[in-house]
Amino acid sequence: MPEPRFVLLLGGTAEASLLARRLHAERTDIRLLLSLAGRTLAPVLPEGVETRIGGFGGVEGLADFVTTAGVTHLLDATHPYAVGMSRNAAAAARRCALPHAAFLRPAWQRMEGDLWQEVDCLRAARDALPHGARPFLALGSQHVAPFRHRPDLSPVLRRVDAPSEPLPFAATLITGRPADDPAEEAALFRAERVTHLVCRNSGGARGYAKIAAARALGLPVILIRRPPEPDGPILRSLNAAMAWLAG
Ligand code: NAP
Repeated sequence: MPEPRFVLLLGGTAEASLLARRLHAERTDIRLLLSLAGRTLAPVLPEGVETRIGGFGGVEGLADFVTTAGVTHLLDATHPYAVGMSRNAAAAARRCALPHAAFLRPAWQRMEGDLWQEVDCLRAARDALPHGARPFLALGSQHVAPFRHRPDLSPVLRRVDAPSEPLPFAATLITGRPADDPAEEAALFRAERVTHLVCRNSGGARGYAKIAAARALGLPVILIRRPPEPDGPILRSLNAAMAWLAG
């Protein structure tokens, strides 16, 4: 008898939650554990899915975890820019000879009317902004530090949770989740007199409203290019990921 399948799904993305929900509903014979980093205070968790929260402690910690728990398959469905976790997942899977794959959603493609300037990193994004700009920094709190070296900017930040610590520089803070409707994002950019959008090419439907809003308003977008893809097999659609998960 083959051993029962036990999937560890590394999440933190809408697609990971969707895959977890689908696998949970469709395959009761597969044990599933969804893992989140714990960056959001009240994450929206897929109902009924077994979940753990917090880091593993690097490659070593993850390798120990999968061995002790008896995980048989590892799917990395973290964000395309979560390079540390993806690297650790590939390395731990290699070390434990564990079947492993990464789900990667397609990057957004430039459309007519988009005013994109693509750059390689956060510092290049910071340096691309003209003097006195008021950029909307659609970036996680751990990624905004380089902008403190540009006191001439008046950035706007959005956070799901009100930060527990002071911001690293003077900025306008908005709390709430990104809107799905481009018109709402456009209204926010207009109300805040935003001059530029700075973001990553995350791909996916959820974060796209801000890109569409920038296009509609003719706002320049400083777009940070994707990092290199993770090692190992890459699954580029939800159906491909489901097929891999369900074996
Ligand atoms: P990262 O730099 O690649 O990861 C940093 C550390 O956080 C990892 O080494 C790991 O700690 C822990 N970690 C990350 N994802 C985890 C998961 N799913 N389960 C358990 N531990 C996890 O990642 P990041 O850019 O900080 O992103 C953190 C999380 O937010 C990711 O899960 C990602 O999917 C999500 N997210 C990221 C972005 C983004 O722009 N980067 C955007 C939206 C969502 P240990 O080394 O201790 O195991």
